[in-house]
Amino acid sequence: MTATYRPAEPIWCAGCGHFGVEAALIGALADLDVPKEDTLVLAGIGCSGTIQNNMGTYGYHALHGRVLPTATGAWEANPDLTVIAAGGDGDGYAIGMGHLIHTFRRNPAITYIVMNNGIYGLTKGQNSPTRQGTATLDAILLGLSVLETTFIARGFTRAPDQLRHLTTAALTHARQGRGFAFLEVLSPCVTYNDTYTRWETEHIDLDTDNTYDPTDRSSAFARVVALEAEARIPIGMIYHDPTAEPGTFPNPATADIDPATNTDTYADIVNRYRI
Ligand code: SF4
Repeated sequence: MTATYRPAEPIWCAGCGHFGVEAALIGALADLDVPKEDTLVLAGIGCSGTIQNNMGTYGYHALHGRVLPTATGAWEANPDLTVIAAGGDGDGYAIGMGHLIHTFRRNPAITYIVMNNGIYGLTKGQNSPTRQGTATLDAILLGLSVLETTFIARGFTRAPDQLRHLTTAALTHARQGRGFAFLEVLSPCVTYNDTYTRWETEHIDLDTDNTYDPTDRSSAFARVVALEAEARIPIGMIYHDPTAEPGTFPNPATADIDPATNTDTYADIVNRYRI
């Protein structure tokens, strides 16, 4: 690929967790040797919504809360792309929540990375749906409750090696066509809600627990519920179905749309409007 574009420098505050997410993503793409010209990173609104500017891949800044339908559409149009949606918990779990539920359900082979810091950082620290001490929403439990879900993980920017490994696993799951890879990352906002110390104490790493089976959905759900009742935050590979197959999607980019060879199909479509 000819070098025609120089990525921007991150605009985040010094110490922001999003630096760790970006480093893990760049490292995972390098680990998998994914060409930049075959990669599309899309992001929503907020501080996290600038990550695509820093990647040197194709990038797209989607509307507030709409990164998942935009990413799904891009993948449907060209399933050969490695499509990565990214954003914050405010973007993804408030206005974007309806899209998240249905993306779990539809299971497109894309990766979604949510940088969870419990607040809206860009607008100076209002509570988001994941702010601790409020009626906290847990997207991990939500994902486990949707039976079509195939990949759920949570990382922490204080554990960079594990985060890079989880990001690589998520990208691999999606690139193998197995479905939607959902990775939430505990990514503290040091300016408006510095949770580094709190999360350092509260997180518990399931990847180091030999009794935990991430391929058992029911056990995963029960374990996460039990840990959260003890005010612990599980990280690691939460649930993974390595045999999953993606749902059926239209594929406009590779479909045969030559009118000469699709006369019956076109006639059928036209006839539907004559009824
Ligand atoms: Fe990061 Fe918070 Fe600064 Fe935004 S305001 S860049 S989330 S530290």
